[in-house]
Amino acid sequence: MSDPRSVSPSTHAPIAPAGLPAGATVCTACALLCEDGVVRPADHRSEHLCERGVESFRRHQAAATTTVAATIDGRPAAAAAAIAAAATRLAGARRVLVTGLEHLTIEGVTSACNFAERIGAAIAPAVDEGRHPGGSTVARCGEITAAWEELRDRADLVIFWGHDPADSHPRFVERFVAPVLSTARRTIAVGTSPLRFPPSPDHVHLPLDDDDDDVDLARLLLADLLERPSGAAPARLRDAARALRSAIDTARCVGIVTGRLDPLGLSSWGVIEVVRALSRRLPAFQVPLHAGSHAPNAAGAKAVLTWRYGAAASAARAGNGGSPAEAIDLVATGAVDAILTLGRIPHSLDEAIRQAIASGRAVKDGGLDPRRVIRMAPEAPDSPDGVWVRSLELFEETGTLLRADGRTIELAGDATRAHVAAVALLAELQEQLAATVPTTPQGAKA
Ligand code: SF4
Repeated sequence: MSDPRSVSPSTHAPIAPAGLPAGATVCTACALLCEDGVVRPADHRSEHLCERGVESFRRHQAAATTTVAATIDGRPAAAAAAIAAAATRLAGARRVLVTGLEHLTIEGVTSACNFAERIGAAIAPAVDEGRHPGGSTVARCGEITAAWEELRDRADLVIFWGHDPADSHPRFVERFVAPVLSTARRTIAVGTSPLRFPPSPDHVHLPLDDDDDDVDLARLLLADLLERPSGAAPARLRDAARALRSAIDTARCVGIVTGRLDPLGLSSWGVIEVVRALSRRLPAFQVPLHAGSHAPNAAGAKAVLTWRYGAAASAARAGNGGSPAEAIDLVATGAVDAILTLGRIPHSLDEAIRQAIASGRAVKDGGLDPRRVIRMAPEAPDSPDGVWVRSLELFEETGTLLRADGRTIELAGDATRAHVAAVALLAELQEQLAATVPTTPQGAKA
């Protein structure tokens, strides 16, 4: 079997990102954005990556061996011809959606917003936590959070609350919990399953019968901390609450790692209240991993949309503030007749596009026109529909990413291929569109 860290050759020039050894860049295969697990495209090697990172890098290297720069309706084409075709097709559309923003840099997302406003399109992340309004927004009011490094450097008690980071952020435990503190660090996992990769041999698992039991457990723990009556509860949950309280009483700093999907927000609300109560006694914070947003720059995409449209996790009608919606819903309900996807998109959105086309609904009846499915992505799509133009993989881009805990990560990029960066491709598409159909400053077609 070949060494999984040694992959097929590519023709890419060396990348020289900020703060990393020459030729190395950040892994962008998940939202953890490991800058210590570097990839070296020029050397065809990756180092210290997890299985998901290695697989992602291998996929990128395999895709890089093809010489096709673009396709039009499944046929190979020059990139310039494909962009011209995309411009013509978008110019004839009335309801365009721009999406796929989580695999762009912040600069790329900003360019996408500018582009959407220019043509009067809707814009939305490909995956949207707005689908879980309680969990993502309402229940998070009052959160006390901290950077992942603070958890690593300060928390001598780490509680995994109903979520195993191995599912969403594979190296999180290795990078931010397993490192040794000056004092002993204890770890406890609360949940239906034990952690797949516990940080230490004396790690404790407090089993729950059901995911939602963590809501009752938070209630019991909160009542105990506030010395209030707790009401009825099963003995096993009372035992778990006692075990947590006992660990907390001997801790100097507590970090609670969360992240399970929580549509109603009750689990989030419970943890927030526990952390608030704890923080009156000792340093305590939550580290929300947002398990629904595995995409590398989901936080950056949300931040840009929030600043521009006031909608952090939902679609915004570019240029006029519009009502929240989700990319998948806009496609599935026939709200768009054309779509521009930028970067890699999740399988769920790809499937929604395929089904919208397969439904055969006429464009005049709200159907998605297969010719107007425009993709700018590092890899050719399985479907021959529409136009595809090859773009850079995110780790090859130049720009800024926003990690979920608010830390920015700079990518220095591959200067020799800047012409296929998302920002450059969007500028070229906008130029072609302007030549095809003059637009007003507000984006309405003239
Ligand atoms: S945890 Fe995520 S960012 Fe880190 S090496 Fe694995 S896939 Fe890459």
